[in-house]
Amino acid sequence: MTIFTDKQKIKFLQDLVQIKTVNSNEEEATNYIANLLLEHGIESYGVKYAEGRVSLVADVKGQEFGKLLVLSGHTDVVSEGDENLWTYDPYGAEIVDGKMYGRGTSDMKAGLMALVIAMIELKEEGADFNGTIRLAATIGEEIGMYGSKQLSEEGHLDGANGFIVGEPSGLNEIIYAHKGSLQYEIHAHGKSAHSSMPHLGVDALQLLVDYINNSNEKFAEVFAKGTNEHLGDTLNVNTVINGGAQINSVAEKVVMKANARTIPEVDNQIVLDCINQAIEEINAQSEGHLELNILQNNYFAISKEDNVLIKALQNAAPVENVKPIAISGATDASNFGRISDEYDLAIYGPGSLAQAHTVDEYIDVQEYLDFINIYKTAIKDYLKV
Ligand SMILES: [Zn+2]
Repeated sequence: MTIFTDKQKIKFLQDLVQIKTVNSNEEEATNYIANLLLEHGIESYGVKYAEGRVSLVADVKGQEFGKLLVLSGHTDVVSEGDENLWTYDPYGAEIVDGKMYGRGTSDMKAGLMALVIAMIELKEEGADFNGTIRLAATIGEEIGMYGSKQLSEEGHLDGANGFIVGEPSGLNEIIYAHKGSLQYEIHAHGKSAHSSMPHLGVDALQLLVDYINNSNEKFAEVFAKGTNEHLGDTLNVNTVINGGAQINSVAEKVVMKANARTIPEVDNQIVLDCINQAIEEINAQSEGHLELNILQNNYFAISKEDNVLIKALQNAAPVENVKPIAISGATDASNFGRISDEYDLAIYGPGSLAQAHTVDEYIDVQEYLDFINIYKTAIKDYLKV
């Protein structure tokens, strides 16, 4: 049984894409979803992070006893960039040859709306399942993962047994694990002086070079201690350096950005310990000083590749051999994964990561519609009576 026509399902997604939620303003999208749920008798509540930034939580309950399955998607999108490069209005949600164009179509308003519709239809069909389906529509995933962090830390998702995160994976692959991501800056503070008299200053650039050498030795030693059979090794890459003022001055300030990708065996804290130790050692022997500034500290998420939720989704998919994979990129599951030690994770949704964040981002409309049915079938299977 379906409650909505395809035309309605497509219209709901268009409405959502047309709400501009670039790293903020998610409240408008949250309200849209809350109203849609309410029209079908589903109450929800908002969890405010900041002005105009509200995540949404809503339950559909089946029989009293059973598992708690969280359906999650983020409402924010990244910037459209230079609008002139787009063939289509980035917030027009125009459909051409079966593709809907717009920022966030693939990443991940299609996945989010497919989950919302699946939830409403299951409710309207009589909620014939065990346990609870809980929607968690999060804000700020693209920068900071603020919504999932807040929902997890404040207990809104306590007791969850499974998570479907509708990030764009496409039909053929399903993600059961991903690495963590630690993004940070090292600030090197020295003292400027004329380059003809460098002894009067403290060279921040040299300070940073010393740090890089010292930390690389520590990373090499510690990273060698653990490999994850699904995720591989923890890695650290120093990615950006900015500093110095002019060619004939000793650099007073240099800032380096870096990104570590972590696994459970060599986790974020272990990497931070290396960094802090290197900083301490360099600071102890220098007149200048180094300081760490953490930008994002997202943990890995890991589940079994043959967990029951993955199996339910594989069985529900209209294609054969949906392949469970582990990836490097982090998602809201970074925060969900810290709620409990054991959980069923499946990151599976319409669209593709190749489309995410690009000019002329689109979603294949049929794939979006297919995913609504996949979700419905798999949810009923996972929570079967
Ligand atoms: Zn995303």
